[in-house]
Amino acid sequence: MGEISDCCSAKVYNPGGDKWARCEACHEMSLVISGDWGGTRQKVAVLGSGASAAFAVAACKSIGAEVKVYSSVYPTENIQQTGAYFLHAIPPNIGHVEPVQVSINSIGEAAVYSEMQWGKVVPTSFPIEERTELWYSPMYLNRVWQSVPVFRETLSTEDIIGLTHQGYDWVFHSFPLVGRHESLVQFPIVVGKQANHLRDFILYNGTVQYDWVRATRQFGNLCFEYPHTYSIDDEYLFRDVIGDFSAPPLAELMGDVPASYEFFCGRDILPSTRPVTRQEYVRHNIVPIGRFATWDRKAFAHHAYTTVESHLQER
Ligand SMILES: Cc1cc2nc3c(=O)[nH]c(=O)nc-3n(C[C@H](O)[C@H](O)[C@H](O)COP(=O)(O)OP(=O)(O)OC[C@H]3O[C@@H](n4cnc5c(N)ncnc54)[C@H](O)[C@@H]3O)c2cc1C
Repeated sequence: MGEISDCCSAKVYNPGGDKWARCEACHEMSLVISGDWGGTRQKVAVLGSGASAAFAVAACKSIGAEVKVYSSVYPTENIQQTGAYFLHAIPPNIGHVEPVQVSINSIGEAAVYSEMQWGKVVPTSFPIEERTELWYSPMYLNRVWQSVPVFRETLSTEDIIGLTHQGYDWVFHSFPLVGRHESLVQFPIVVGKQANHLRDFILYNGTVQYDWVRATRQFGNLCFEYPHTYSIDDEYLFRDVIGDFSAPPLAELMGDVPASYEFFCGRDILPSTRPVTRQEYVRHNIVPIGRFATWDRKAFAHHAYTTVESHLQER
């Protein structure tokens, strides 16, 4: 069986026939493509380089499809570590991973949280009882990008249709093509650094005592998310957060006041948004993945893995 790796254009000899082997040139673990797939490998373009794109690329690698990525930024610029952003799952074949234990809790009432967050009472992820879950750092997704060609380009819808004429069997896009931009909202996140050994948590606020709606500590970042109706006014939000540190019972949970803060802009989809349907795809082989491309608030990045896998298995 002949084996060729995408890694460094170097050939990797893999007598065991495993899909993964260490490249002799750069010593990274790389996907080994069996000679049996030659000529029949599906060609895939993945658009974007965020979390959904990473899962899509992982699925392509696992099935042995030839994948190229087009994105307005490189993967390393994407890895988002702000707000309540943990991964519920990680792609297979990326080596050893350690889950983190996250406590999920709330103060106040779900209806108050929803009113503050969305201006009306809608179903939300507000937890009624405290629970603990095992999640993963988004940083693990960095491993997926090894030996994957990424072209830094900002694509228009016309560019994407053009890709379908370039011999790609499938084009998976992770940013919206179907216009519904009034449903996309931006919100401020205030982030301070803390010791990384402190307990990770997500705390939903259902009281009118605080202006922020969710406080999170993850991977050494203490984050406060504000409703999208707040403008990103650094001075006001900074004073607001500092004030809350002295107020029990939060003082104990939050730990020491971080020495400095940064301000980020998060984005989300309004709860009433209708997800895109198959009929709305621009072409039958252009497929949306991830919550922003599908306009589906319930779509997690890891769902892209099975979406891509099922399409590739269709042929
Ligand atoms: C507070 C909070 C908590 C969250 N928790 C989770 C969670 O636990 N699990 C989870 O899966 N998700 C979570 N999410 C959602 C998470 O933000 C998204 O799932 C994730 O960012 C979506 O990744 P994505 O790859 O679908 O989209 P994005 O991260 O938006 O990536 C889109 C990519 O497309 C590129 N791009 C955009 N336009 C173009 C263009 N015209 N041409 C080329 N490239 C382009 C961008 O550069 C980017 O690389 C959370 C979100 C928030 C705000």
